[in-house]
Amino acid sequence: MYYKQYGNTDMKVSAVGLGTMRYDDALISAGRLSECAEVPLYAFEKGINYFDTAPFYCQDKSEEITGMALSQLPRDKYYLSSKTNFNALRAIDKNITRDTFRRRLELSLSRLKTDHLDFYHLWCVLNLDAYEEQCNALYPFFEEAKREGLIKNIVFSAHLQGADIETVVETGKFKGMLIGYNALNYRFRQSGIEAAHQDGMGVVVMNPLGGGLIPQNPNTFSYLTEGTDLTVAQAALRFVASHKEITVTLAGCTTKAHVDDAVKAVEGLEERPAKEIVKLYEGKGMGLNNLCTSCGYCNHCPKGIEIPKFMDSYNQKLLSGNEDEIAARLSGHWGVPIEQAGQCVACGKCETLCTQHLPIIERLREIASITSK
Ligand code: SF4
Ligand code: SF4
Repeated sequence: MYYKQYGNTDMKVSAVGLGTMRYDDALISAGRLSECAEVPLYAFEKGINYFDTAPFYCQDKSEEITGMALSQLPRDKYYLSSKTNFNALRAIDKNITRDTFRRRLELSLSRLKTDHLDFYHLWCVLNLDAYEEQCNALYPFFEEAKREGLIKNIVFSAHLQGADIETVVETGKFKGMLIGYNALNYRFRQSGIEAAHQDGMGVVVMNPLGGGLIPQNPNTFSYLTEGTDLTVAQAALRFVASHKEITVTLAGCTTKAHVDDAVKAVEGLEERPAKEIVKLYEGKGMGLNNLCTSCGYCNHCPKGIEIPKFMDSYNQKLLSGNEDEIAARLSGHWGVPIEQAGQCVACGKCETLCTQHLPIIERLREIASITSK
């Protein structure tokens, strides 16, 4: 396993970490949690020492499964991360107070069978207003928990663009951050990871496969594998992990074979600065920053438009160059009437939430115009 130093700390973390949001759904539904727990144990055996979990993941069982596995190991041999925010706290109590924060944290600790977290995230910051609101309300509680040794490092996770990430980095409040970064969206985030790295922060990356879009389109992304014996999925992980600015690349693993893929992706890793990597790949197919990754964050349309399904269908046009693919995907795959696109009133709510910063309104207009052709 290839290890990297976490920011300006003395922690040595594995270049790939286990993202624990993809435990086997069928096993969880059948109550066979100990079988899911074999995956983190196997990951540890293979040298992975960074484990990222959160409330709600995997039918809200991720923390429990991860704790079931890691509690069998010496506590000083791995790093554990979990998360909190207004949503996670409201699930405990609608009225958010210090006590709510503490009960949420204690629940995570007890599920994880540990007395401390190495990293506790201010979770899922979607824009700077949300950041300020949540940070003002919750940061003092984070600090108190840190003073008491319940958490070791205060970090944040976000879906912000590069410049906004820089703004949060400049506050100096965080030891590290977790952001989505991959061959699809690197342009939006590159300056952010550079700023965090320069500031001595650890940088952990989620969603390195672009919500599955990269391995689902192997021909489009085959340029990532050039000169290697890697699959497209492995090469996409390697693309991220090879950034000097990125400390840990999270791989969401359902099976031991997925762990093997992740481990292979960083064998003999060579680190390079982001600028060099981008130069290496520019012109070879990168630049598809404008694809929807089906993250679902925008899915709160007041008109009931199923935005992720429309944007996924628009992806088909971008990937194939054929406009007919939009209607084919909407009706054939999703069973959504194309006319729904015309109900958009351009309120802008979805664009504010979109993690890929896509021009959703413009795309819906374009889709709506197909029906009138
Ligand atoms: S801009 Fe259109 S699609 Fe987006 S939330 Fe508003 S009505 Fe819905
Ligand atoms: S449109 Fe944006 S927010 Fe919505 S699913 Fe796609 S990438 Fe996510």
